[in-house]
Amino acid sequence: MTTSDASDASDASDASDAKKTSPAPKQADNLLLQRNGPLTRELLLTPGEFGLGRVPARLKPDQTTTVVCGFCSTGCGLNVHLKDGEAINLSPNTDYPVNLGMACPKGWEALTPLRATDRATTPLLRNARGKLERVEWDVALRTFVDRFKAIQEAHGKESIAFISTGQIVTEEMAFLGALAKFGMGMLHGDGNTRQCMATAVVAYKEAFGFDAPPYTYRDFEESDVVVLVGSNLCIAHPIMWERLCKNKNRPEILVVDPRKTETAMAATAHYALKPKSDLTLFYGIAHILIQRGWIDPGYIEAHTVDFEAFKAHVADFTPARVSEATGLSEAQLASFAEKIHNGKRVSFWWTMGVNQSHEGVRVAQSLINLALMTGNIGRPGTGANSITGQCNAMGSRMFSNTTGLFAGHDFTKEEHRKKIAGILGIPEEVIPTRNSLAYDQIIEGILKGKIKGLWIIATNPAHSWINQEDLHELLGRLEFLVVQDMYATTETAERAHLVLPAASWAEKEGTFINSERRIGLVKKVARAPGQALADFHIFQLVAQYWGCGELFKEWKSPEAVFQILKRLSKGQPCDITGIDGYTMLDERGGIQWPYPEGAAFETNERRLFEDGQYYRPDQKAKFAFQAPRQLPEPTDEQYPLTLLTGRGSSSQWHTQTRTKKSAVLQRLYPKEIYVELSPVDAKRIGIEMNEWVVIASRRAEIKARAFVTNSVKPGEIFVPMHYEITNKLTFPAFDQYSRQPSYKACAVKVRREEDRG
Ligand code: SF4
Repeated sequence: MTTSDASDASDASDASDAKKTSPAPKQADNLLLQRNGPLTRELLLTPGEFGLGRVPARLKPDQTTTVVCGFCSTGCGLNVHLKDGEAINLSPNTDYPVNLGMACPKGWEALTPLRATDRATTPLLRNARGKLERVEWDVALRTFVDRFKAIQEAHGKESIAFISTGQIVTEEMAFLGALAKFGMGMLHGDGNTRQCMATAVVAYKEAFGFDAPPYTYRDFEESDVVVLVGSNLCIAHPIMWERLCKNKNRPEILVVDPRKTETAMAATAHYALKPKSDLTLFYGIAHILIQRGWIDPGYIEAHTVDFEAFKAHVADFTPARVSEATGLSEAQLASFAEKIHNGKRVSFWWTMGVNQSHEGVRVAQSLINLALMTGNIGRPGTGANSITGQCNAMGSRMFSNTTGLFAGHDFTKEEHRKKIAGILGIPEEVIPTRNSLAYDQIIEGILKGKIKGLWIIATNPAHSWINQEDLHELLGRLEFLVVQDMYATTETAERAHLVLPAASWAEKEGTFINSERRIGLVKKVARAPGQALADFHIFQLVAQYWGCGELFKEWKSPEAVFQILKRLSKGQPCDITGIDGYTMLDERGGIQWPYPEGAAFETNERRLFEDGQYYRPDQKAKFAFQAPRQLPEPTDEQYPLTLLTGRGSSSQWHTQTRTKKSAVLQRLYPKEIYVELSPVDAKRIGIEMNEWVVIASRRAEIKARAFVTNSVKPGEIFVPMHYEITNKLTFPAFDQYSRQPSYKACAVKVRREEDRG
């Protein structure tokens, strides 16, 4: 920001601020108030409202204010320090109930990616020579509308789709979902949350009747037995790990993971099972608990259904069978069950090691079953607890209007469509009556020639999607690919026909919902560069250009949309009608859903199901189960090793779109891609530490540096997901219910670089 930019920071603001501070609005402010009127260049370039402005006038130029972190689902509160209207630094908020004064390296460095030199600053349109060139917003928006409408006219409304994200604020997700489905006539739209949370969503819905993670972070501090499954909490969710370290009960920490992760090393017991034998393991643990009478019959009787069928199902999962399948000894299995039995407050936590599986829904439910049958739910320190990934994965689950209608409603139910149409004041006919295709089915739709146009918002599938090379080829088949992102340099943006430059976290307002259902506030504390606009404003403009602006005349600002979301949630399990607005969220340190109108505010850390009442029609939780299925791509003679993928360090975030912009973070992780392999396999193949090796799957080959370590067992290797080429190797298998990709296990081989395979 220049000195002159800073000097007028106090009078640049959004429209509501302008109304408060200026009794006689200037011309620019008048334009801002005409949001549903014709778009003008002046309107686009007006400071403030459309993302080009400085810090809003509601913040003083030299104050410290609190925002929620924009990386992971922990949702830490960060104090941002402003000087002359510019965010110059930040520190963790000691009063925020999530992080209590702590932050991980990403949080400390959260402002750095905003200042990267490769920010997208103007719209870019691919020209006849195949190069992306700068264009005016007006050209970009007209092209967007003309090309997508032309595709719809030629191939039908369903021929364009969108892929959204867990990284933008809830109000923007909601706007996008409403705009695409109600305004632009799209049926198909999904989010990158399909890659991380879809399994938990489906598991909870079937078991509890609603997608409802039941816990609060205080449960980490109150358990006496903590079971972590497929979760390297130390590095993936470091602040949750810190909360666990504050537990005064000296808890047993049981880690279930094929790798000896940092978390497994710190655990009291590590169960290094064979990859994807987890479903068999948990059925085996249930078998032992039932056999020994270590269950809670009173809770089962009063609050659950289908236990007897489940009991019959697990009768065959004898210790001998389970030991054979998992590679764990019968003594380990007995000890695992005994530790659960001995615990008074047992909590079960899982993340991607469970969700990203060919049978993830059933694995998640096998953990829910253990919590239910032992009565470890609805009390302090208990629960069947899915930890989410992205900062707003939970917002996406409730309000993105992608695979489910707003606030847990159902597109296929007429009464739900009628209700939502009534609340939004829109014709019922604009609401689709069918569900969208899932992410992988949208990709498959490109292959089949059914999807011809795609709008990708704040996500980078060219890096993150499973079996990446297939996707690269398919993106090239699209007639029109629009990427809306804060950088024009992502692997996906580089393939776009049109790039729309977006403001980042902290350059706009809105809310995130974290893993424990806490709605936290994000504020605009920095200006977006060049002509980058908040996603919210891009959606407003698209609505105007598309000709459906009338449907969104009430969607004037993020906070106005928050009020709409409140109405949509009324009477649902995620009811938030008791939250007045952003000021209340700010003052209370975020508020967990549900928070219905008239709710008493006794504590800011609440868990669900304390009354044993679930959201199914009979108010009981359901035992769901199914026979384990074979690994989609087991090892064989040709590909004898199992590839595990996951997070590399707490300084890396997903596709590294942002974390690689920070020199500080870059010093905290290996720059070059590496593969962990066991000393046994290294010796067999003749590989030395740090040597370049080739990893081959049936789909591709990549090179990586060898890191020889006992953290992986013989027969298994591990490659972090953050490196651009990792997903060239992964096998495209999906959970049959959640359609979540199974990133965690496929067959590969490794050779020295100079050897021929
Ligand atoms: Fe941000 Fe997550 Fe780190 Fe907290 S743990 S500072 S939310 S990245």
